[in-house]
Amino acid sequence: MERGELLRWLTEDRDEALRELWLRADTVRRDTVGDEVHLRGLIEISNRCVRQCWYCGIRAGNAALTRYRMTADEVIEGAQAAASLGYGTVVLQGGEDPGLTREWVSDVVARIKADLPLSVALSLGERSTRELATWRRAGADRYLLRFETSNAALFARIHPPGTDSAVRDRIGLLRELKDLGYEVGSGSMVGIPGQSIADIAEDILLYRDLDLDMIGVGPFIPHPATPLGGTLALSGEGQAPATELMTYKVLALARVCCPRANIPSTSALATLNLREGRELGLMRGANVLMPNLTPLRYRVHYEIYPAKACIRETAQQCHACMQHRIRSIGRHIGHGAGSATQRSFGAGVPAPGRLPFAGSQHRHVPTLKPGPPRREKSS
Ligand code: SF4
Repeated sequence: MERGELLRWLTEDRDEALRELWLRADTVRRDTVGDEVHLRGLIEISNRCVRQCWYCGIRAGNAALTRYRMTADEVIEGAQAAASLGYGTVVLQGGEDPGLTREWVSDVVARIKADLPLSVALSLGERSTRELATWRRAGADRYLLRFETSNAALFARIHPPGTDSAVRDRIGLLRELKDLGYEVGSGSMVGIPGQSIADIAEDILLYRDLDLDMIGVGPFIPHPATPLGGTLALSGEGQAPATELMTYKVLALARVCCPRANIPSTSALATLNLREGRELGLMRGANVLMPNLTPLRYRVHYEIYPAKACIRETAQQCHACMQHRIRSIGRHIGHGAGSATQRSFGAGVPAPGRLPFAGSQHRHVPTLKPGPPRREKSS
């Protein structure tokens, strides 16, 4: 799919036409990554950050936030919970926190890899080549770093350097991560003020160009205690709206353009639509969910944006809820690490970006069934 077609889909608002896109993404998802939904246990290990991103609630300038950094033993306990719930991967996520030193992270990764049958994904911001190489040697399998927007001027405007840190070239860093042998995840936000629909099309082309193993797409949700916190949702000519619908379109197009990638249905989508956002993401191209395993006493403080979904449920409650949601749409939980790099293009699996519509109109598309009682308000 090329730029022109991407732009046509991104500006399409007719339900009937969009049903064709959802069906196409769902068909590609089924034919390439199958019906398995992989669960990645998320542990938010630190909400300390030296950066000042203009929308993020854990930016260094937010003095109102209670800060925490988990101990190594607490992180290991979270990883043990992931393994006992049958997850194949644990994701250690945090702000850009120099207190998460090269040695500390390396030691935690090595302990997890030595004792537990887990893939380890790190999401710790822009770190030095030396740190990234050390963590890879310690056993880290994946690194997640969103490029947020392919528009370099817009990126620079909303991501100023921290007091002590230089801004690194994220696109170069993503290529470096690949060279270090990581499976690389990245992604972008949808609806940043000043982001055009043409920018979004470039983001999707960049997913493909970077040959990403994992793609995260979320709506732009600024935290109120940030410079962009008071920004009204923009909808002017050419502005990409920060809506649930636009996020589904980007997610579906990501699946069509990058068929073998792992694509999560994100908690940001669940925040916009707690009742069925996760399911709709899974039915429009996604194949991954990330249940939160952060201890409840910390989770409430990892407030990158307000009213985040799932901040008061225990790991077991999150697991049961996700299990039910997956089954309600006729899918099942995947086993093992669910590695994108181990998928190959076998017979019948079309190459990236070359996926036809043919036959898709005969597919059965699952409808949403009522779920168990759910909290409608998460904070
Ligand atoms: S977006 Fe990431 S780097 Fe920026 S302030 Fe938030 S946690 Fe820090």
